[in-house]
Amino acid sequence: MPDVDVAILGGGCAGLSVAARLAGSGVSFRVVEPRARYTDDRAWSFWRTAPDPFEPCVRASWSGWTVEGPGGTVGRGSGRTPYQTVSAGAFYGHAQDLIHDAPGGSITLGTAAEGVVPASGAFRVDTSDGSFTARHVLDGRPPARRPRYGQFFLGREIATAEPVFDPRTVPLMHFRRGYSAGVDFLYILPFARDRALVEVTSFAPARPSAETFAAWLADEIAALGVVSHDVLREEAGALPMEVDYAETPVAGTTRIGLGGGAARPSTGYAFQRIQAQADALATALVAGEAPRLPAERPMTRFMDRVFLQVLATAPERGPALFESLFRNAPPERLERFLSGSTRAADRLSVMAALPPLPFLRAAARPE
Ligand SMILES: Cc1cc2nc3c(=O)[nH]c(=O)nc-3n(C[C@H](O)[C@H](O)[C@H](O)COP(=O)(O)OP(=O)(O)OC[C@H]3O[C@@H](n4cnc5c(N)ncnc54)[C@H](O)[C@@H]3O)c2cc1C
Repeated sequence: MPDVDVAILGGGCAGLSVAARLAGSGVSFRVVEPRARYTDDRAWSFWRTAPDPFEPCVRASWSGWTVEGPGGTVGRGSGRTPYQTVSAGAFYGHAQDLIHDAPGGSITLGTAAEGVVPASGAFRVDTSDGSFTARHVLDGRPPARRPRYGQFFLGREIATAEPVFDPRTVPLMHFRRGYSAGVDFLYILPFARDRALVEVTSFAPARPSAETFAAWLADEIAALGVVSHDVLREEAGALPMEVDYAETPVAGTTRIGLGGGAARPSTGYAFQRIQAQADALATALVAGEAPRLPAERPMTRFMDRVFLQVLATAPERGPALFESLFRNAPPERLERFLSGSTRAADRLSVMAALPPLPFLRAAARPE
């Protein structure tokens, strides 16, 4: 008999999302995580279109957002799908509480997975602290493969001496020109009038230099009218934006999280898709079935590919395209689409909001 039903490699967003759902289900599992302790290292934001076990970790919620492009500022928001932020610190703490309270579940911090070997109908997981066996393996370690196109960002959560932010509305994409070879924009999560995460982001083929990002972010903070501020936290990331971006797992195991292709190729948003993947994986495991990731619809893959093709080949058109999308698509359908909805009506509304010519040209190009 294997030691546990499920080995979860990596106690990050994807690994803990599955563990939280398996806790108390009767399926035994062990999470292996190299960090000795968790810190509040990021903020996950998304339009809430479905419930998940981490709702107690929501730090802030907004019903409106703005996009600023060449044609001016668009203010939207359906009010039905709030834009929410989950703090990573609260998320990690909540997941650990659920795991510790669950019979048959455990998390081993300070331990790295080093290899997975098929062994008599199960798997042996070799770690920096010995080996154990598991019937199924979910591999949530970060991917090693460099994507051809990505979302790169640097953000600082700051506390300002003056009240400079409007906490009612999220500046989602305020476009800028010339910092990278791609599409550049400013993103702000205003938690209070004097506290916000201010982030500079590029959709680009390669990460802009650290100096470029640092100087750009400093300029943006100064342009907000901030005279003095404290930096409370910094976050940076490089997320894949590539259709079919997923690493091949050891045969019979399942790649989850970013390595399993969880980031939406056309936006880099991943949290909601990780939750949807975790729902599907946990449901299969509790039913005694092999874990399976939900398949991507061909139409969604096609739309993502075309959209990325336009961004990669004509980045100068990006701001106008996004502005037109956010200005013309019905907000609720757009919020659902960006969150990964595969409903035909949501897809059609989004397609109708975009100027057809560049997309037809991109669609005609070979893959
Ligand atoms: C700063 C930041 C902000 C983000 N903000 C958003 C957002 O606002 N909205 C959104 O939708 N997405 C966001 N993302 C994208 C995505 O949601 C996150 O990257 C998310 O954490 C991905 O989950 P994951 O489980 O794939 O990876 P991670 O959460 O990074 O988890 C991977 C885990 O594997 C562990 N690990 C590494 N090596 C080993 C090993 N050898 N053995 C075992 N474990 C190992 C790591 O320590 C880590 O805990 C953000 C990403 C970053 C980096």
